[in-house]
Amino acid sequence: MERTKGLSNFHTHCELDDGTGTMEEYVLSALSKGFDAIGFSCHAPGTLQDDWHLKKEDFPAYLEEIDRLRSLYRDRLEIYVGLELDFLEDTEELVGSEYKEQLDYTIASVHVMKHAKSGTYLSIDGPQEEFDTLLHDNFHSDIQQFVGHYFSLQERMISLYSFDILGHCDLMKKRNGKGIYFDPNEHWYQKMTNHLLKMVKKHKVRVEVNTGGIARGAIEETYPSMSMIAQCAEMGIPLTLSSDAHQSSHIDYYFSQADDQLVQAGYRNLDVLQHGMWQSVSIV
Ligand SMILES: [Zn+2]
Ligand SMILES: [Zn+2]
Repeated sequence: MERTKGLSNFHTHCELDDGTGTMEEYVLSALSKGFDAIGFSCHAPGTLQDDWHLKKEDFPAYLEEIDRLRSLYRDRLEIYVGLELDFLEDTEELVGSEYKEQLDYTIASVHVMKHAKSGTYLSIDGPQEEFDTLLHDNFHSDIQQFVGHYFSLQERMISLYSFDILGHCDLMKKRNGKGIYFDPNEHWYQKMTNHLLKMVKKHKVRVEVNTGGIARGAIEETYPSMSMIAQCAEMGIPLTLSSDAHQSSHIDYYFSQADDQLVQAGYRNLDVLQHGMWQSVSIV
């Protein structure tokens, strides 16, 4: 089913972080696809200084460019400024929180864990070897502990901070392929996802359905999985739909299929920013 109205995406990157292309290219792509709104969510500057985060010195230019685009396309597209914030397990810092006042919204994500041996942060979302190093060194190759730790970090983040969107909440499956490390139907895994969603519900967190893993060829389904989306539907947890776009052509990647799956799971509405406020809009 192809939606003709109410299209938006609040999870996008660009050349200022680990995406490619200018912000204007994303705006033009959104316009060409009939979007109502777009939000930019570069990886927040701060503790993690590497090539996938926005540089602190680029933050003013980020805001200025969004302002410029906002004035330029004012009549045709709503443009919002956000950041994707990282939760760090050792300091319990939500990196980038200090920019909140200057933003329209925030996405909170867990991407990294601290590698005990080296004291560096390694990514769950990055190269395979970083995932494997964490699994072997921090968790003695015990995948249940590793996955459990990931979910517990998100729960800790939810209990400590408020934010607008919980990013890719079952990211741990990114390297799992067709069950290389675990079977998501196993009881222990279901118990963990269920525990997370109870926490999400309790703290009134909005969960994103993220098609970025499919867009980048890493996985064949959305974050979170259909079974988690079905649980979200049962629990009345509000969702947003995003593609975590790292290139402008991916701005609506897999959206029509995701819409179908959401409707199948029982959703009739998704949350979007409209006129500066989060609103629940119809997708059917
Ligand atoms: Zn992310
Ligand atoms: Zn992202």
